Amino acid sequence: MKRILITGGAGFVGSHLCERLLNEGNEVICLDNYFTGSKKNIEHLMDHRYFELVRHDVINPYMIEVDEIYNMACPASPVHYQYNPIKTIKTSVMGAINMLGLAKRVGAKILQASTSEVYGDPAVHPQPETYWGNVNPIGLRSCYDEGKRCAETLFMDYHIQNEVKIKIIRIFNTYGPNMNPNDGRVVSNFIVQALQGKDITIFGEGTQTRSFQYVDDLVEGTIRMMNSRDGFTGPVNIGNPVEFTMLELAENVIKLTNSKSKLVYMPLPQDDPLQRQPIIDLAKKELNGWEPKVHLEEGLKKTIGYFDDLLQNR
Ligand code: NAD
Ligand code: UDP
Repeated sequence: MKRILITGGAGFVGSHLCERLLNEGNEVICLDNYFTGSKKNIEHLMDHRYFELVRHDVINPYMIEVDEIYNMACPASPVHYQYNPIKTIKTSVMGAINMLGLAKRVGAKILQASTSEVYGDPAVHPQPETYWGNVNPIGLRSCYDEGKRCAETLFMDYHIQNEVKIKIIRIFNTYGPNMNPNDGRVVSNFIVQALQGKDITIFGEGTQTRSFQYVDDLVEGTIRMMNSRDGFTGPVNIGNPVEFTMLELAENVIKLTNSKSKLVYMPLPQDDPLQRQPIIDLAKKELNGWEPKVHLEEGLKKTIGYFDDLLQNR
């Protein structure tokens, strides 16, 4: 049995990780400040004898004896990370320093949830880990993109200078149950709009592309990365290479919900990347042949079911 700290454990991805690692027989400490996460995501775990919940902000140091740390704390939706940009960059940078300091003191292995956003609006397509990115350092998205880039630097420096055992994953767009219905990301927006019969908000012309993975595939890749061979630090892309436009996504959601919603077109947000698709050869090689298993339609059906229940029981 390992003792595992998950920062941001009450959020969308963190809550799935808490559940999976508990089910595998570990002791899990979930740390969160509830900025975008919610106790509801983890309330079914509260009675588990090996689950603990701590209200704490990662910009402040935290002391605990653990074997592993999954550093997931950070708002991930553009609406939320732009709400208080200074707090967002503090969360990534000071959060990384505090968690790396903890890992160094107690000899824990630590995994960083980095992001495809480190590639910015990519001039190389699809994106391999060797691509350094095309990021605006002073734009609306910079607090997130540059915060995550700085966190990657800190992880590598603690590894090189202090021999901290680190793992870095670059997560591409992920969706699934426990997403916050108000968090402004495209999958939750489209599904909630379709279920409520409201207009589906397409930003720009809807021709921009993304590659979405279902949360179970991400959790599998994340845990495999934590358990990967000593000395393999990453960064490694974890995402689904199947790429589609936002218009295609809207059409899929409308079909699967039998919705009468209409499409409306709104301005494209500043610095919105035009395209994004991971190359996952490194993950396949280093993570025992890991690759996404859940097809978009299957994942969307599960996510629609989740939001349907949530909206009816509100
Ligand atoms: P989320 O917003 O649902 O979860 C983030 C969690 O972190 C929330 O519970 C929030 O309350 C908590 N948090 C935020 N700031 C904190 C702070 N200062 N101290 C303590 N807790 C704090 O987002 P998510 O989609 O679950 O993302 C989890 C991680 O994965 C994030 O680091 C994100 O950058 C990364 N990521 C996610 C995606 C995606 O598509 N979901 C893509 C790339 C990277
Ligand atoms: N988007 C959209 N309508 C929405 C929300 C988002 O068309 O209601 C677009 C957004 O402009 C972007 C894509 O969907 O091109 C993905 O947005 P999201 O915020 O989910 O993730 P990110 O931009 O961080 O990849």
